[in-house]
Amino acid sequence: MQVRVTKTQTPGVMPKEKELGFGKVFTDHMLIVDWNEQIGWHDARIEPFGRISLHPASTVLHYGAEIFEGLKVYRRKDGGIQMFRPMENVKRMNRSAERMSLPQMPEKDMLNLIKKFVKLEERWVPKSFGTSLYLRPFMFGNDEALGVHAVKNATFMLIASPSGSYYAEGINPVSIMIESEDVRTVRGGTGYAKCGGNYAASTRAGERAAKKGYSQVLWLDGVERKYIEEVGAMNVMFKIDGEIVTPMLTGSILPGITRMSCIEALKSMGYKVSERLLSVDELLEALEWGKLEEAWGCGTAAVVSPIGKFAYGNKEYTVGEGKIGKVTKKLYDLLTGIQWGKKEDTFGWVYPIK
Ligand SMILES: *Cc1c(COP(=O)(O)O)cnc(C)c1O
Repeated sequence: MQVRVTKTQTPGVMPKEKELGFGKVFTDHMLIVDWNEQIGWHDARIEPFGRISLHPASTVLHYGAEIFEGLKVYRRKDGGIQMFRPMENVKRMNRSAERMSLPQMPEKDMLNLIKKFVKLEERWVPKSFGTSLYLRPFMFGNDEALGVHAVKNATFMLIASPSGSYYAEGINPVSIMIESEDVRTVRGGTGYAKCGGNYAASTRAGERAAKKGYSQVLWLDGVERKYIEEVGAMNVMFKIDGEIVTPMLTGSILPGITRMSCIEALKSMGYKVSERLLSVDELLEALEWGKLEEAWGCGTAAVVSPIGKFAYGNKEYTVGEGKIGKVTKKLYDLLTGIQWGKKEDTFGWVYPIK
């Protein structure tokens, strides 16, 4: 796909790396590609970053036809930059598109567009370990009419934000509230798709948990309110009595690339990993008998996030000793080591940008 590039006349200033938060500062440019039913994808362009204009009847504003991805560009010690399994994000974006009746883009085209954009914005990739350039590809339905049907017009965009280290204050285990009222999604719904509406719908429970002093909620399945699904917007893993358990992908769980990488990494370290149904009763029993040795969330933003405490009703339970567990730490070191190029990548996950 040809890309027309219009460079900014007013390049921005990269903030000090210590002052980078998450998703507040954006790079100089944005990528836009239009799609319509007649001619497919066309008019790919990189333009100065700025506001976009939408028709008030645009589909995304009424029926939430929106999907997104999240991935990072990492800077190695030698100054070069690399990504982590970006083709997996491309494939997942197309699966999300399919679920939401949005158009798919040929995998190679999407990956090449991302690469081209990253090369142009390379100076925005911060340098210290733990920091990264966060990429946010997204797509929305953009018909200028109110009828409800698969869209005939859509827009793909890519923006990027230099981001600070998730663990600027050290890796501290978080406290999690088991959510028994709201559900994130249901089987047959949109749980496996990274679509905007899932996040709007899960904010309420997150806010309620925060008010009570918990970082996030543990989601249970929407049908029986029994099986554990995810933690906040991360996948979740447990070490119970020596076995590593993570909820199996039932359709309502987002298939995380970090999740998939943790499973492969754990297996390579010789651990037995079970992807299966795990009920909240089984978890509570393990907690009561001191058999829950470790628990952690995993996702691109945090890599792994140790869980130190669970609350259910008005009872609180501590996981292990309430500190980051051995397996959690090993996973963190291996994945971040590969991502920032400190460790050899024996899995073929790294995608260098030259
Ligand atoms: C993005 C996301 C994840 C993690 O996916 P990664 O590919 O590992 O970043 C997990 N759960 C939800 C709900 C997500 O949106």
